[in-house]
Amino acid sequence: MFAGPVDFLKGVVAMDGLPAADRVEVCFAGRSNVGKSSLINALTGRKSLARASNTPGRTQEINFFTVGDSHYIVDLPGYGYASAPLPVVEKWQRLLRRYLSGRPTLRRVFVLIDSRHGIKKVDQEILALLDSSAVTFQVVLTKIDKLRNDAERERVLTQVRGALAPHPAAFPELVLTSSERGDGIATLRSIIASLA
Ligand code: GDP
Repeated sequence: MFAGPVDFLKGVVAMDGLPAADRVEVCFAGRSNVGKSSLINALTGRKSLARASNTPGRTQEINFFTVGDSHYIVDLPGYGYASAPLPVVEKWQRLLRRYLSGRPTLRRVFVLIDSRHGIKKVDQEILALLDSSAVTFQVVLTKIDKLRNDAERERVLTQVRGALAPHPAAFPELVLTSSERGDGIATLRSIIASLA
């Protein structure tokens, strides 16, 4: 089951702030502007739910949402903007590393990739971190409504499959989504439900 009211629970800034690992947890990661808030909102049927994690001050927090009492949705801050001072970035990376490698109920991390851009260097850093944390991740392509034709679609699929090939933690199936049109949302929901 993946249903029930969705609510923001808390933003976690240290390991001892994590909620009890007592339910299925899925995590969403992606570079800033990839469409992560829109996707989480489409997935949960809640407008503006995930906006919380884009607000300044929440950008170094692991944001937990509850879905009924069966799942946590975890929203990681968008990466790719090196705006914070180095010690802050390092503290965040330590927390992220410890969270990813030490969370027994974390079933899958969905890494969002803009379908117009494919996998970039900045995405490779998070993929490497997921490999070393031994957390299965699955790539979700966003904004596929922006692809003009089949050739563009094939080009991005080929690029993404090639970039994923060296990653042992990658789940092979890609999910193609558009939060605007609704493509892939039901698929993503059923993938999450199957992880129970
Ligand atoms: P975030 O920074 O990753 O949370 O990204 P947002 O969800 O705020 O989206 C960034 C921008 O992309 C916004 O202007 C959205 O309207 C747009 N966007 C998000 N999802 C889609 C989509 O599926 N299709 C299109 N065409 N635009 C989208």
